[in-house]
Amino acid sequence: MKKIALLGSTGSIGTQTLEIVREQKDIQVTALAAGSNHVLLERQIREFRPRLAVLWEEKAAKELQASVRDLDVTILFGMEGLLAIAVMPEAEILVTAIVGMLGIRPTVAAIEAGKTIALANKETLVTAGHIIMPLAKEHHVPILPVDSEHSAIFQSLHGEKGNSIHKILLTASGGPFRGKKRQDLSQVQVEDALRHPNWSMGKKITIDSATMVNKGLEVIEAKWLFNVKLEQIQVVVHPESVIHSMVEYEDGAVIAQLGTPDMRLPIQYALYYPKRRILSGKRLDFFQLASLTFEEPDLDTFHGLALAFEAMKRGGNIPTVYNAANEKAVALFLESKISFLDIAELIQSCMEQCTFIEQPSVAQILETEAEVYDLIESRW
Ligand code: NDP
Repeated sequence: MKKIALLGSTGSIGTQTLEIVREQKDIQVTALAAGSNHVLLERQIREFRPRLAVLWEEKAAKELQASVRDLDVTILFGMEGLLAIAVMPEAEILVTAIVGMLGIRPTVAAIEAGKTIALANKETLVTAGHIIMPLAKEHHVPILPVDSEHSAIFQSLHGEKGNSIHKILLTASGGPFRGKKRQDLSQVQVEDALRHPNWSMGKKITIDSATMVNKGLEVIEAKWLFNVKLEQIQVVVHPESVIHSMVEYEDGAVIAQLGTPDMRLPIQYALYYPKRRILSGKRLDFFQLASLTFEEPDLDTFHGLALAFEAMKRGGNIPTVYNAANEKAVALFLESKISFLDIAELIQSCMEQCTFIEQPSVAQILETEAEVYDLIESRW
């Protein structure tokens, strides 16, 4: 029986992780955590019977506590609760599927406690890759990617030990606005941006796909995970989302992972790595796939992607500024307070104005996040 603890259990990745647990029947869930959704968390507690459950909000945690008093489960709240999950002795794998930089501290604690990390929370690597990757190496802890592109790269690296990567080809669907120009995007509404052509995901990441900032975050994530130079990462727009990413080796051979757009595959691969298990659902039918197409990304229209390369080149806390400014900008866009094109402008303006720190500690990463939030709040 595998034992997992799951942060972000009520979200898109979290619920799909639990679908796998339900289907496979040989994973024990030791802990669950969410932000405020106590109704769904209670249902999950009743079904999966974890020993510990955490909500970020104290009030919601109190309501949950009252509603599950008939069960043998401890309810905690806030960061203290997330850290308790990260280090609980009975869990072997910590699945990090919460959103935002909140994931950094529990991930650090879990690595120090020797847990395998199944990492969906890309913000952790984007902002603290320089801390997480060496720490994982020091503690001999595997970081198994859950993001579909990174899982594809990880799968394409299998059996290639000792062969160096020439290039990572990170595929991108191009989102709902592929082919559009800047002027076409000035009047975009929230509903338009939430209409992703291929993947069904949480709201924040769906907007990030529309701006291609998600691909920018993935470029930074890939750089840390696979220890390559930024110049070795090439984004390839591939609207069908059949090839989930590729690795080109020194001899020119390109190894890719293909599949239907179903996040359960990379999640399940991380949970059972290196074993593969049967997974229900649609399979690729090559006779129905008329063609696969590829394009260069339009970095002028999708300026948010170009800014990710710039952020990573500058290094230090600038990827944190990039990520934090984007988080805040997306929240403002979802509230219809700024326009779609303002998202990238706001990120750029924060990258120009924030204090540079070369080797930020976790505390300084969080201070940078606060600085960015203050800056944006003072202007919008
Ligand atoms: P969702 O918004 O769907 O879910 C977020 C989860 O985090 C929810 O369970 C939410 O709880 C919880 N959460 C939010 N705030 C807190 C908090 N303060 N404390 C504890 N838990 C909290 O996000 P996704 O599942 O889409 O994404 C999760 C992560 O995975 C992100 O980093 C994303 O970039 C990454 N990712 C997602 C993919 C996808 O297909 N969705 C693909 C690849 C990566 P509540 O419901 O109570 O708010």
